[in-house]
Amino acid sequence: MSGARATTERSQQNGAHVPAAVATSRCMGYSLDPVREAVGRCVEELPELQERFRNARNVLVKPNLLSSSRGPDSHVNTHPSVVQALAELLIGQFGCQVWIGDSCGTLTRGSTARALENSQMNRVAEATGARIYNVDAQPRRVVAFEQGRIYKEIPLPSNLDQFDLIISVAKLKTHTLTYVTGPVKNLLGLVPGAGKKQAHLLAPRMEEFATLLCDLYALVRPGAAFTDGVVGMEGRGPNNGRPRRVGLIAASCDAVALDSFCAQVMGFSPLRIPLLAECHERGLGIAEPRLMEVRGEGAAAFAPEKFAKPSTYTQSLALRLVPRWLFRSAFGLTVTRHAAIDGQRCTRCGECARNCPSHAIWQDEASGSYRVDPRKCIACYCCDEVCPSDAITMRGSWLHEAMNWAASRFG
Ligand code: SF4
Ligand code: SF4
Repeated sequence: MSGARATTERSQQNGAHVPAAVATSRCMGYSLDPVREAVGRCVEELPELQERFRNARNVLVKPNLLSSSRGPDSHVNTHPSVVQALAELLIGQFGCQVWIGDSCGTLTRGSTARALENSQMNRVAEATGARIYNVDAQPRRVVAFEQGRIYKEIPLPSNLDQFDLIISVAKLKTHTLTYVTGPVKNLLGLVPGAGKKQAHLLAPRMEEFATLLCDLYALVRPGAAFTDGVVGMEGRGPNNGRPRRVGLIAASCDAVALDSFCAQVMGFSPLRIPLLAECHERGLGIAEPRLMEVRGEGAAAFAPEKFAKPSTYTQSLALRLVPRWLFRSAFGLTVTRHAAIDGQRCTRCGECARNCPSHAIWQDEASGSYRVDPRKCIACYCCDEVCPSDAITMRGSWLHEAMNWAASRFG
């Protein structure tokens, strides 16, 4: 597995965590020259990263392409300037062959090809001499992964082994389901097309989904990670939040450490984020801020005032105390949320129904409206992620809302 070759192999030695270095650089806009400068500064600060670049021949640069229809100004996807600056550096300074690739968050046929075009990755490839690696268009295989706690059979492109180095290039954003999305979660884009639906069905609860993402990260570990936080996203990320200027480009050989650093910039406690806490506990990387060496300005210097977190973060503590049976009681009494569609905003494009892993969304034949069956909804937020009209809201019972209030007050 390419991940085995590209592994960071530094998070644990003799049972003790080894400090991880994160390099940061300030960059206030997406003009190419300042972005080149910021990316270059991060690389200069990390000799270990330079060594990995020098030793790599075939490199996969993996941006986060969530939307197939939105351009760079939406700040939903990794910005093309960041990918271009990195590709230029890898090709020009380190002599690497570079591929830019992903499978985007929308599962509609042809959506990754559209995402590569609309996010301007095709243009970046042309400008730099990189090649495009459309994950959905590659031959596939299912990799058996016995050590996985949930994800024991992982669908991946069968030619992923051709890469000596995978670089996860994430966007600094909140995420309603996982609280933050960074270079670790970004790897889910290496699972082709409908495999992502399967992942949500295998791990419907948030904590389970975090374990599944950890499993994937344990198998396909990137050797380097960057975050585009020039403009990030707050609130209802990863698709329907508010863009927020942060002015950060950061890098690390340890994607967990970089994720954790960005979580701190957004005002989260990294170890209260299940994905990062579990990665740390399993020795996959460093999420504990005290074990990080920041080269450049620290998290506090970049943290925007009152950065809005997803509402799900505030309820996490109280909801953990709820017995599991209550989540799906026989009487339909639920303390979870379920998706609901705002008929005024909905354009009836059908994206939500096509992307719902549990087939909870259907179209009413008489009216043509899309509806949600709350009993089938597993609150995975996939529909919210893909809806181009911000027409999905999540609703909970009075009990859920009461717990939400209590958690935000006392949690
Ligand atoms: S809710 Fe959104 S994704 Fe679903 S049909 Fe309406 S506009 Fe499309
Ligand atoms: S309705 Fe939306 S939130 Fe519910 S299972 Fe389907 S995609 Fe997930």
